[in-house]
Amino acid sequence: MEINLAVLARQFQLYQAEYEAVALRALRSGWYILGTELENFEREFAEYLGAKFCIGVNSGLDALTLAIRALGIGAGDEVIVPANTYIATALAVIANGAAPVFVEPDEFYNLDAEKISAAVTEKTRAIMVVHLYGHPANLEKICAIARKFNLPIVEDCAQSHGARFCGKMTGTFGVGCFSFYPTKNLGAFGDAGAVVTDDENFAREIRTLRNYGSEVKYHNKIAGVNSRLDEIQAALLRVKLSHLDELNAERKKIARRYLNEIKNRRIILPKILDGAEHVWHQFVVRTDNRAAFQKYLAQENIQTVIHYPIPPHLAECYAPLGFKRGDFPIAEKFADEVLSLPMFNGMTQAEIDYVIEVVNKF
Ligand SMILES: *Cc1c(COP(=O)(O)O)cnc(C)c1O
Repeated sequence: MEINLAVLARQFQLYQAEYEAVALRALRSGWYILGTELENFEREFAEYLGAKFCIGVNSGLDALTLAIRALGIGAGDEVIVPANTYIATALAVIANGAAPVFVEPDEFYNLDAEKISAAVTEKTRAIMVVHLYGHPANLEKICAIARKFNLPIVEDCAQSHGARFCGKMTGTFGVGCFSFYPTKNLGAFGDAGAVVTDDENFAREIRTLRNYGSEVKYHNKIAGVNSRLDEIQAALLRVKLSHLDELNAERKKIARRYLNEIKNRRIILPKILDGAEHVWHQFVVRTDNRAAFQKYLAQENIQTVIHYPIPPHLAECYAPLGFKRGDFPIAEKFADEVLSLPMFNGMTQAEIDYVIEVVNKF
């Protein structure tokens, strides 16, 4: 048996007829950008989350970058960023001329709420949280800290579509920034993203920024960007959104089997924080002998990936920031030990059985 980390074709095949029908509808409409498919998707996704406004943009990185910009954050400002995350989270801060201030992760791989206060200075302008791997960050504690320091929260929800904390959707605790990159739980068939907010003025600002800074055609109030979510992607996303809960339920079932049936004292399984509803974008395990484990799995035809091998503070592009190995030892340890097991919609029981059997034999 040969198992990949994610087989996107299976996700497509699950609802192929529906995707093909709406793609044709979008093609035949004669209207391809900023039309009714996007308006409907924005309304439906906001409703799904329990938020007032959703603004479609071109990618998750754009959602984050425009959110930081619309908060008025720029040169001389600092933003709290998890040390254990994908590079995009920090990039959005740096792209606006501000400085990321990294904070170590907790045992759930997310921003450690206990360590935020010590990183706040008079230059701090926002707290960014990432719900990494689909596991909501400790929003109860983080929201309390944000209130205490009067700081806005920016949520990187690129991996947490449909994940709740204490019954409330991630993306509605602060400014919600989503990616619909094809591998994400709510993935398009190309690049796409969105910003979610309850604040009408903030929503208008993002809507203006994404379309060259113009609210009225050819009247450019601000120097904006071109970051729009295409009609054809919006139409396809509406189909996937209508199935998101069942797609996440399937991921939860796969995770439940891994959690119950992987029994190997060399492998550390993921834990779930009280109040967090995990949507399992990735199923990430840890071992102190990762290279051997990954090689063994590859020999047994199980493909795995490391999310992520280099923490942002050690990324080559950030060398000018002056960080070095040892600055964030917990994030560095995770980067050395984590490995993502196969987890995707359309995975068969036989494939899940095989992964469990092979992992247990390591
Ligand atoms: C995928 C991802 C992004 C970026 O999304 P794009 O749509 O690829 O720009 C940002 N943050 C995290 C945590 C991600 O996983």
